[in-house]
Amino acid sequence: MASITLKNIVKKYDDGFPAVNDVSIDIADGEFVILVGPSGCGKSTLLRMIVGLEDITSGDLLIDGKRVNEKAPRDRNLAMVFQNYALYPHLTVFENIAFPLRLNKGKLTEERVKELVLGAAKTLELTDHLERKPGNLSGGQRQRVAMGRAIVRQADAFLFDEPLSNLDAKLRGQMRAEISQMQRRLGTTSVYVTHDQTEAMTLGDRVAVLKKGILQQIASPRELYEQP
Ligand code: ADP
Ligand code: ADP
Repeated sequence: MASITLKNIVKKYDDGFPAVNDVSIDIADGEFVILVGPSGCGKSTLLRMIVGLEDITSGDLLIDGKRVNEKAPRDRNLAMVFQNYALYPHLTVFENIAFPLRLNKGKLTEERVKELVLGAAKTLELTDHLERKPGNLSGGQRQRVAMGRAIVRQADAFLFDEPLSNLDAKLRGQMRAEISQMQRRLGTTSVYVTHDQTEAMTLGDRVAVLKKGILQQIASPRELYEQP
């Protein structure tokens, strides 16, 4: 895993208004940071800049102390889990999870790919569903496949954009527990966007509050939610 450092990060889109305005956060190796704030405050923009899907207007982004502003997403080794799963409908669960490994063609043997996919599937209790296609899975199963695709890459950090918001309450609870377990087992460095206070309380080491692109405060969930 890796540390992530944001130094005075600014993002201006074409209209010139800063969607993210001078945000600095030090995320330690293995730390789980929750990102909260009203719709439009810049949460997704921040995640997309970290993963490399959006250019940074100014400031520095460091992964394990190295500046990565200009690095392509594929060279950052971060895994992003979206709320809409982004699975390939024509591929089986196995092939969906294996997909990121096959992007590194030539580097991994078929045997190694299989080993990694089966390992991730076991962790996420997907072993019995490997030959099915996403269309035949429940929402929770699909979400687990999306997570499997992220963890199979042994990424340096995970970025979650409201990964549980499309699930019903029961599944949300289960998935929350699974993410929490994964966090304990893998020591995952994570940045996790959510509107759900229970998720923030359960998963977060710290909670960062954004408003209109500005970091308002960053504190432990306890400090933030149990203020008198
Ligand atoms: P959040 O994820 O907190 O809802 P976003 O990061 O999506 O916020 O958006 C932050 C601000 O940037 C909003 O004002 C939004 O309208 C604007 N924005 C987001 N994406 C784009 C884009 N591609 N082009 C122009 N403005 C954008
Ligand atoms: P393609 O080149 O297959 O069209 P993309 O342009 O979506 O794929 O992504 C190129 C590279 O960026 C991928 O190899 C992947 O490593 C990385 N990437 C894209 N989206 C994500 C994401 N959500 N999380 C992590 N890495 C991503």
